Amino acid sequence: MEPASDSNLSVPPRGVRRALQLYLFPLEMGGEKVEESRETIPQVWKGVSEKEWNDWRWQLRHRITTLEQLKEIIDLTPEEIEGIKHSKGRLALAVTPYFTSLMDPINPNCPIRRQAIPRIEEIHLSKNEMVDPLGEDTHSPVPGLVHRYPDRVLLLVTDQCAVYCRYCTRRRLVGSSERSITQGNFEEVLKYLKSHRKVRDVLLSGGDPLLLENERLEEMLSRLRAIPHIEILRIGTRVPVTLPQRITSGLVRMLKKYHPLMISIHFTHPKEITDQVRRACSELADGGIPLGSQTVLLKGINDKPYIMKKLVQELLKIRVRPYYIYQCDLAMGTDHFRTSVATGIQIIEKLRGHTTGYAVPTYVIDAPGGGGKIPLQPDYLVSKGRGKIVLRNYEGKVFEYPEPNIIEFKKTRSMGEEKAVSKKVIA
Ligand code: SF4
Repeated sequence: MEPASDSNLSVPPRGVRRALQLYLFPLEMGGEKVEESRETIPQVWKGVSEKEWNDWRWQLRHRITTLEQLKEIIDLTPEEIEGIKHSKGRLALAVTPYFTSLMDPINPNCPIRRQAIPRIEEIHLSKNEMVDPLGEDTHSPVPGLVHRYPDRVLLLVTDQCAVYCRYCTRRRLVGSSERSITQGNFEEVLKYLKSHRKVRDVLLSGGDPLLLENERLEEMLSRLRAIPHIEILRIGTRVPVTLPQRITSGLVRMLKKYHPLMISIHFTHPKEITDQVRRACSELADGGIPLGSQTVLLKGINDKPYIMKKLVQELLKIRVRPYYIYQCDLAMGTDHFRTSVATGIQIIEKLRGHTTGYAVPTYVIDAPGGGGKIPLQPDYLVSKGRGKIVLRNYEGKVFEYPEPNIIEFKKTRSMGEEKAVSKKVIA
């Protein structure tokens, strides 16, 4: 191989650099204000005692499930009224009193309201939408178990959630009371896991596993923990956000017994971070449970960089590490929530380097049909040539980085001696 010669690749001239900077970083048009969290107990529950309000079972028993109930609290738009009427037989309406108390009763664009109240757009189906967008049913060797990656599985332990999110990927399953794990299925699941020794990580999801009673959840965790090759247990939940009262010291005491156990919490908007949520996350973190967040990118709710920045910064303050931002899946009736992929990349562009690295999640598309998560990020590699690369940083400034010169030692025989000859090899 020939020694390296310098390539013509170099940092672009100043004018080009400035144009690149302006293209990537258009001047900000002033600050944007993010809606603050505000828990205002609606009039209908004014007579309820603090003890009842803070009891998660009371919250579940008093969920809003009908148009008539919701009309008493929220000034509904015609689109919402039609959406609720058409939600029967589709994804049900259910909202905890607590989550309702975060809604703006007069603003239909309130991010909490948009997530939980059906709109007429849900009946408009796009040709790209699928009943099972992630191909989970085709990767299910046993009912309730999805085995898509080599060393980890997803266990759907219940079909119930505290609040049904209008963009739910598993809307084909949740609220149906048909697909949750029964005792019989769980025995089958355990049998499968015991015979698949490569599985080292089990993610309990649903529905929401934290809606199970402590005893039922503990039975599952303890029996999974007893399988020697299962190293990690994880729980995916939205309960700390929609029903934070469920995070009790008794629950945390039970969960602590099954470490290493991690929890991924589904957060969507900074308005969700209330004092109740801070307390819930604090209890879990104090229990030694690593907390990560998962956020679906949603049009008109969190698709602005300043909203996501506020969310990830607030999450770090409550000891939740921002983990994933998901591009919205192709679930039926969710087209109105989808943003362009460029929107997601732009959000990462505005986070990376502009705030703490710990606060920057990975933006992913869960490949339609079951290909798994595919990460996406802005392109920081401007060009690549012989012996060096050109990069840009978060401000659009351009830098050269020389590739390593790898020295190759070659044995040669010269006048009876062994000699090492160095040779530059271009990576
Ligand atoms: S909490 Fe999760 S599973 Fe339940 S409705 Fe929301 S997105 Fe779907």
